[in-house]
Amino acid sequence: MRLLGTRKIFLDDSYVKEFFAKVLDIRQSNGKTTLILDETAFHPIGGGQPQDTGIILGEKGKLLVEDVYEDEFGNVIHQGVLEGSISIGERVKGIIDWERRHKLMRVHTAAHLLIQAVRAYFNSPIKCVSAGKSVKGGRLDFKAPIKREMLPEIENIANKIVSEDRRIIIKYMSPERANEYLRQYNESLELYARKHELEEKIRIIEIENWIAIPCGGTHVKRTGEIGRIRLLKRASKGRGIVRIEYTVEP
Ligand SMILES: [Zn+2]
Repeated sequence: MRLLGTRKIFLDDSYVKEFFAKVLDIRQSNGKTTLILDETAFHPIGGGQPQDTGIILGEKGKLLVEDVYEDEFGNVIHQGVLEGSISIGERVKGIIDWERRHKLMRVHTAAHLLIQAVRAYFNSPIKCVSAGKSVKGGRLDFKAPIKREMLPEIENIANKIVSEDRRIIIKYMSPERANEYLRQYNESLELYARKHELEEKIRIIEIENWIAIPCGGTHVKRTGEIGRIRLLKRASKGRGIVRIEYTVEP
């Protein structure tokens, strides 16, 4: 496909719930319809964050968006059930399921915050080796001897940062500058670079004076918006890896 990649509205503003865009491609596959727009606020599945769902409204039809993913060229593919018809070149209106997305933003931002809460507890640059988020909550896998009885204190550290309502800032910088910048937070481009090797500017999400992580996901603007973080359980995954599951409450 000759398309050069969809402009991702959510990277600049993750609070856009509705948007207008032009249809660049539409096709059928296995009883589903796939659609590519010139720009989109729909977040594709990836980086441990599930896709957004919602509707894309045309003049003579609508696509009920179930799956959203990115192809190898950076095009965001919206896939779902088409009712009526939508044509290439048409201007359409996209509406994302905001309740779902906002919950995912809160859970995702809590993941960033919790990584540093664990490091603060141990006073050591603990490695988070994997993360997953859903509308119900998230999970983080750490290479650290986290015991069950440590969870209340880690939770307290996290909720202190929530109650301080710290700002969450998006910064862009060159890979060289980013590597240097991230080092002060014991982070690197190691995991990020593999997926984003062509990017000239690295997107960094910083919770003010707490943690900075390279990330292409959607986050809330202040830690207070996350709501109370509750650690639900801890499980050993072997090889020194401990999984923590958490949720966010209103
Ligand atoms: Zn993130």
